[in-house]
Amino acid sequence: MAKKRTIRTIPQERTPMREQDPQARAKNFEEVACGYSIEDALRESERCMLCPDEPCIAGCPVGIDIPGFIQKLGEKDFRGAYDILTDTNLLPSICGRVCPQENQCEGVCTVRESLEPVATRSSSAATLRSRSRVGSSWSSWSTSSPASPASLSLLNPAASRAS
Ligand code: SF4
Repeated sequence: MAKKRTIRTIPQERTPMREQDPQARAKNFEEVACGYSIEDALRESERCMLCPDEPCIAGCPVGIDIPGFIQKLGEKDFRGAYDILTDTNLLPSICGRVCPQENQCEGVCTVRESLEPVATRSSSAATLRSRSRVGSSWSSWSTSSPASPASLSLLNPAASRAS
């Protein structure tokens, strides 16, 4: 049985978002934020305490089972994570871009009482990108697989053009 996570045992630092180098971004109109890699998302998933009262679900306007998807993500069950993300939301890629998560799920995240909240939006975006990496063959995907330009362009056009 997995050990219960507490505020003391989870990674204390939120996984940083990679950004374009300032020298590079001064000369282009691409997005500054590069998004989480799946490895980043896996690390960030370790910060979720899987709270029994699930305040983040109540904070999500479409009621996504956030701890459920994060748990599947942490288990590298990307298909399972994707299925949970799309259970109550037909347009998760759009929400991954436009949701003001700091006032919604992340705004009520229990971790926020002591540390920076779990980066739920960035983690879901990485999961959605992983879906297009593998097409219909989820089992063939691994964290070391290079992302295809098409997959990265789903949520991060800048990254796909750079690859
Ligand atoms: S409130 Fe935060 S720590 Fe608790 S289950 Fe939701 S995302 Fe995880």
